[in-house]
Amino acid sequence: MRQFQFEYKSKLSFTREIVKLDKWCKTRICTNVVFNIYSETPDKGVLMDISTVLETIMPYALFMGCSSNGNIVDGALSDNPIAITCTVFEYPTTRIKMLQYDFRTDTQKNVAEMLKNEIAEMGGVKAVEMLLTIRGMSLSAFCDSLADLPKEIQVYGGGAFNMDINSNVACVFTNEKGLSATSIAFLLIAGEDFHIKTSYVTGWKPLGRDLHITKAKGSLLCELDGKPAYDTYYKYLNIKNDENFFYNTLEFPFLYRHNGIDILRAPTASRPDGSLVMTSDMEENVTARIAYGDPWTILDSVDEECSDIKKFCPEIIHIYSCAARRTFWGNHEASNETLPFHQIAPVSGFYTSGEFLRTNGFLNQHNVTLVIGAMREGNASEEKGREEDYQQEKLSGKISMVSRLATFIGAATAELEAANEQLEIIAKSDGLTKLYNRSEIQRRIEKQLEDKKLPFTLIMLDIDNFKHINDTYGHKEGDNVIIALSEMLKQTADILVPKGSAGRWGGEEFMLLLPDKTADQAFETAEKIRNDFAAIKFEKAENVTVSVGVTAAIDGEAPDTLYNRVDGALYEAKQTGKNKTILR
Ligand code: GH3
Ligand code: MG
Ligand code: MG
Repeated sequence: MRQFQFEYKSKLSFTREIVKLDKWCKTRICTNVVFNIYSETPDKGVLMDISTVLETIMPYALFMGCSSNGNIVDGALSDNPIAITCTVFEYPTTRIKMLQYDFRTDTQKNVAEMLKNEIAEMGGVKAVEMLLTIRGMSLSAFCDSLADLPKEIQVYGGGAFNMDINSNVACVFTNEKGLSATSIAFLLIAGEDFHIKTSYVTGWKPLGRDLHITKAKGSLLCELDGKPAYDTYYKYLNIKNDENFFYNTLEFPFLYRHNGIDILRAPTASRPDGSLVMTSDMEENVTARIAYGDPWTILDSVDEECSDIKKFCPEIIHIYSCAARRTFWGNHEASNETLPFHQIAPVSGFYTSGEFLRTNGFLNQHNVTLVIGAMREGNASEEKGREEDYQQEKLSGKISMVSRLATFIGAATAELEAANEQLEIIAKSDGLTKLYNRSEIQRRIEKQLEDKKLPFTLIMLDIDNFKHINDTYGHKEGDNVIIALSEMLKQTADILVPKGSAGRWGGEEFMLLLPDKTADQAFETAEKIRNDFAAIKFEKAENVTVSVGVTAAIDGEAPDTLYNRVDGALYEAKQTGKNKTILR
């Protein structure tokens, strides 16, 4: 396959070029011809002129096009508002088909079904390239409906856009149907000699800690960790909710896991209630992190992707890159991240309102991402693509200051998280016994009661004649006895399914919470503990015993009623001779 790229100047000069191209095609082996047309304006007049020229001079060619936020010609951002790329297929086995459907929220599922039928009918489809109008629409229904496409079919493409990023006006057109503001176009490519490798690069890296998306609805990100999502930008990055919000947050979009991969979502606006309008849908109950983009890190990722694509030996490369990336780099430097691909094979594409790529069977809508479709016909060979070797400009050794600071923040965050975890453990546990302390065991019992997780039982234990042990053998021996009983309680709690909780209620008083256990089962457990403990021979105190109270929780009772009952059982055990278990 081959690619010719034009920058549209006038109808006359374009006509001349197409006449030349038509002659060229007719003197070569050329099985299929497709034009991709990208225009910075959805200007119907000019786009119709282009369509007319193609339909008149090369009626055998198919074409698809859309409005864009800038065009990529020969691997670089073009100065010209209209870019036209012609792809010539050379293998007789390659077959292509152009489709175009009306695309709105209520037609999304139908479109997916029609596409699947066309793919099944055509047979051998390997690639589906798509251009679509997406602004102001949730695409989840469409993306999800394509999950059952045969695994090997690669789907990729870009959302039509406008030079004004705040405008929702966009269009898609093909030779199949005319220009439309609510449309989706598909190019199906099939054939045993056609090969495609799709991939994506972001280059943005995660920064700081995990944030939990506690509330989201469609493309509205409402809450992170239970607080208004905007607070995160203000607190961590001091980004104010003003007219520069979009530009300031662009360097720090969210990175979140979706369908098993990292996906970027950028906020486009902040609402008065602190929710953020995101570039596409986000899910609830997943974690997200703020990501940062810096030129060095991004170019490193681009470099890595280039090495991988070079091995595929493509003949042409299509790039669908986010308009946000163009804004991030600025017009003068935007090509820095696309030109390296052009050293492998001719690159054409445009800046989109959303990038689409099927990964692991799931079609994902990306943002702030560069999606790549690398194609060839025939076997991979060194002669394919560029003659000159891909010059990998090594950035080795140089790591940007931003990247170093991000590493610093990452390490500091990890240390703080570990310290917090430690603090949390300390706050909940008793120093001498390492059992839960009084407030934690109480909290657990009361939560169990409140959640009505019945049945559950309590075992309360008190060491017999402990004062005597202290007075006779010393405080140290007293501690040994407490620790030995605590060990036994902890082991009992740990082997239960579900796990129980053991806590120190007071000096030599303990409480065991046994979830899912009836009073009779708990009584058995209590008796085992009592007997096992009585069998221990301490160095000085020798044999020590415990008295035990057991009770089952009753639905709806107050915690104090429950505590009084188990305490009453323990009191009875003490009063009636100690070293025994009483069930109430
Ligand atoms: P009973 O059989 O009726 O339970 O009698 P007892 O002597 O065990 O009862 P009492 O509650 O009067 O004694 C508890 C003693 O436990 C009093 C206190 O000094 C001691 N004690 C409390 N905490 C600790 C501790 O951490 N280590 C040691 N060694 N002693 C403790
Ligand atoms: Mg005691
Ligand atoms: Mg006591």
